Amino acid sequence: MSLLQFTGKSIYCAAADIHIDPWQPVDRAIITHAHSDHARSGCKHYLAHRESEPILRLRLGADISLQTVEYNEPIFINGVKITLHPAGHIIGSAQIRVEHKGDVWVASGDYKLEDDKFCMPFESVRCNTFITESTFGLPIYKWKPQQEVFSEIEEWISLNKSNGKTSILMGYSLGKMQRILHNLNLPDEPIYAHGAIYTVNETLRKAGYNLPELTLVTKEMDKKLFQKSLVVAPPSADNTPWLKKFTPYSIGYCSGWMAVRGAKNRRAIDRGFILSDHADWNELNKAVKECGAESVFVTHGSTDVFSKWLNENGITAAEVSTMYGSTEEKDQEQFQENV
Ligand SMILES: [Zn+2]
Ligand SMILES: [Zn+2]
Repeated sequence: MSLLQFTGKSIYCAAADIHIDPWQPVDRAIITHAHSDHARSGCKHYLAHRESEPILRLRLGADISLQTVEYNEPIFINGVKITLHPAGHIIGSAQIRVEHKGDVWVASGDYKLEDDKFCMPFESVRCNTFITESTFGLPIYKWKPQQEVFSEIEEWISLNKSNGKTSILMGYSLGKMQRILHNLNLPDEPIYAHGAIYTVNETLRKAGYNLPELTLVTKEMDKKLFQKSLVVAPPSADNTPWLKKFTPYSIGYCSGWMAVRGAKNRRAIDRGFILSDHADWNELNKAVKECGAESVFVTHGSTDVFSKWLNENGITAAEVSTMYGSTEEKDQEQFQENV
């Protein structure tokens, strides 16, 4: 029997009786990171990296049963050694390394290789079998260094200001927005935020992370306040009446999907910034090569293309069907005006 199996509700380790990122409720779950397609409610016990705790409690409930560990801190269950290693994807994100009788598997969750200066950078972990995502597993996806993108965003903000417009910057509330807010050179004036971003930002600020303080946008606020300012919002705010109070405005949208022309055109946005918290084509290949695995399973994204490519290049690879990738980077965050 394989050390890890794909059971239809999780990535399951029978020897330790524990499930990685289950999409159905189980007794014992290990969570790679706090995005909603990987961290789901209803499990009896959770194990995750220490830095995931504030967001997991925010999203799954303050009273969940949660054990946390540091990176590289081993847990032993029935002779199975489990360690978490940095995935470089979002705060607290981890690859799960499982070792039993000399066999080593690593389940990556989601990852990127570029150091975003906010979360712990990706660490390559040697293994026999690697379970990888492939959200951007096509050769057309090649990211620029993030500093170039941040400079583009800064220029766009100051251009809007000189044109008398409010800059509405959209990006996923967990991960993307902290990466941006932590790295941008922001003007020394209030930054206004939609509730979805405000809540995540405040939760992490209270936990001690270096993020700017945001001002929550409320219905009562005078529209004049927002003139020429910066407003941060989740992608789901696109095409909603919530935007009216910021008129005149320009919308900038940060996502890996902005690399595809159609993704921008389908939205009411002015500028697309190509910025992803997932590995691009070269990073996926590098990660697979450096872990040294002789076999690879591809869980979500361009699974068919990427697994075919690996097979043609001497690595035994197969696609597996999971529920990952169903929300993040697809902008399925629910939009609520006053969250
Ligand atoms: Zn994710
Ligand atoms: Zn994912």
